[in-house]
Amino acid sequence: MPPSSADLLRWYDRHRRILPWRAAPGRTADPYHVWLSEIMLQQTTVAAVIPYYHRFLDLFPTIGDLARAETDRVMAAWAGLGYYARARNLHACARVVAAAGGFPATLDGLLALPGVGAYTAAAIGAIAFGLPVVPVDGNVERVTARLFALTDPLPAARRTLARHAATLNDSQPARARPSDFAQALFDLGAGICTPRNPACALCPWQGECAGLRQGIAAALPAKAPRAARPVRHGAHFRATDAAGQILLRRRPASGLLGGMLELPGTEWRAEPWAESEALAHAPLPGPWRQAGRVTHVFTHFTLHVDVYAARIGRFPNSAAQAGGLVFAARDLDGLALPSLMRKCLAATPPDRPTGVP
Ligand code: SF4
Repeated sequence: MPPSSADLLRWYDRHRRILPWRAAPGRTADPYHVWLSEIMLQQTTVAAVIPYYHRFLDLFPTIGDLARAETDRVMAAWAGLGYYARARNLHACARVVAAAGGFPATLDGLLALPGVGAYTAAAIGAIAFGLPVVPVDGNVERVTARLFALTDPLPAARRTLARHAATLNDSQPARARPSDFAQALFDLGAGICTPRNPACALCPWQGECAGLRQGIAAALPAKAPRAARPVRHGAHFRATDAAGQILLRRRPASGLLGGMLELPGTEWRAEPWAESEALAHAPLPGPWRQAGRVTHVFTHFTLHVDVYAARIGRFPNSAAQAGGLVFAARDLDGLALPSLMRKCLAATPPDRPTGVP
C-alpha cells in the first residue's frame, strides 16, 4: 500500500517552498519556466540556479526570445552552471518548441525534445500539464527507498526504486493534483527526508515509513562503492598583449565544454606535463613563466592545469591563423567562458612583469 497522498498534500499546502519558477497555489505553471528550471537544476542546487534563472528570463523572457538568440549569448548566460551540453541542448530545444508553437503536452512529445530525458519529461508533464506521473529524481529515489525500506544499492536499484515510486500516486487525491503531488515529493525530499538526518518527526508519512520503523532510514538509499575518480593533467597559456587583450580559442562544438571559449592549451591526459613538453604547445613563442596551478573537478575526472603566462607587444598573424581569438580583458565577463577557464585566468597575475618584450 502506498502512503497517504492526502496526508502529503495537506503537508504541502502548509509548507510548500516558494520558488521563482513555481506557480502560486491554484495557478497553472508556465511550461517554459518549468522546463528552464528543470534543465538548470540537473546536477545543480536550487540556490545556485536561482540567479541564473532570473538572468535567463531577463535576457530571454519567452521561449521565442531564447530560440532566436545567438548561441554565444546563450552560452555566455549559462557560463558557470557547468555541464555545457545542457546549454546547447537547451538552445536546440527552444528552437524546436518555438517552431512547433509551444511545448507538447504529452510524455512522448516531451521525451522527443532535445535534452529532455525521462525525469525531465515527467517533471514538465506533471507540473505544467497535470499528467498523472511521478518524476523520479534523487530526492524521490531517497524518499522511496526509505518508505519501502529498499536496501539494494544504487545504481543497480534504480529500476526497482522507479517501479515503487510510480505507485506513490496510485490514489485519488494524488491523481486529482498531479502538479502539486510531484512538487510535494520534491519538497519532502529537499526539506524533510534529507540525505543526512531526515526530520522524521516532522514527516507526514512517518506512520507509514518502513525505513523509519526498521531504524535504517538514514542509511538509505544504499550506494555501491564508487571507483576512485581518475586524474588528468593539462597546461593552458595566457598571453596578454600591450593593449591588455587576451588570446582565446573555441573548443570543438561537441564533447566536454563543447563550443565554449578557452585559453589555448594542451590536451588533458593521464600523465603530468613536464614544463618543456607543455611549452611546445604554447600558441606563441615565449618566454613563458608558470603562473599557477588550478584544480577542477569534473563528474568523471579531476583535472590539474598548469597555467603559463606571457606578455607580448602584439599578437602575430599566425595566432589568428591557428584559430586564436582576441578579446579585451574587460570583456571577459560577458563571454562563454567555463568556470575552469575563469580559474585559469584568475590564477594568472595579470600585471606582474614577465620580461617578455
Ligand atoms: Fe523520510 Fe523519515 Fe519521512 Fe520516512 S519518515 S519518508 S525516512 S522523513
